Amino acid sequence: TDITALLLSRIRDVEDYPEPGVVFKDITPLLADPAAFTALTDALAELTVRHGATKIVGLEARGFILGAPAALRAGVGFVPVRKAGKLPGATLRQAYDLEYGSAEIEVHAEDLSAGDRVMVIDDVLATGGTAEASLALVRRAGAEVAGVAVLMELGFLGGRARLEPALDGAPLEALLQV
Ligand code: IMP
Repeated sequence: TDITALLLSRIRDVEDYPEPGVVFKDITPLLADPAAFTALTDALAELTVRHGATKIVGLEARGFILGAPAALRAGVGFVPVRKAGKLPGATLRQAYDLEYGSAEIEVHAEDLSAGDRVMVIDDVLATGGTAEASLALVRRAGAEVAGVAVLMELGFLGGRARLEPALDGAPLEALLQV
């Protein structure tokens, strides 16, 4: 469709970043184009409303850039999931495995509650580890999962399959598939 072509045309492939052999999908050209950024924001807000979410959880750091305007457009609250050690209040913390080693993310426990339905938003779904850990945080906070929405899914990394158990029937929406 038109929006798919517009979004795709504003994503830049950066070869050998962050390491040799990796092609990094850079969304900064999309953010710099107000027509593309608006189209993306509208699409994410529409998914948020369609799936009945009451909150958007954005994943540090590009999930903040996409999730915050989508939350305002959808009329729902925005909650940041951050790398461990950045949030000042009482948090829930979740560890997950990376290719080499592990990482930890956190959310403020009081920003989510029972009765919330959460749409988790990020720019790129790669292996699915970050999104999987985020869904665990949402559930541990007592909230319900409305779905996961990303700009781009890197299909060859198998993130969708990894995420499936954690989704527990909730949708994974990807505006672009590579
Ligand atoms: P995952 O946990 O392997 O799915 O990695 C997803 C996280 O890494 C997301 O927060 C993405 O922002 C980031 N990421 C991985 N690959 C890319 C990429 O090619 N472009 C932009 N972000 C990426």
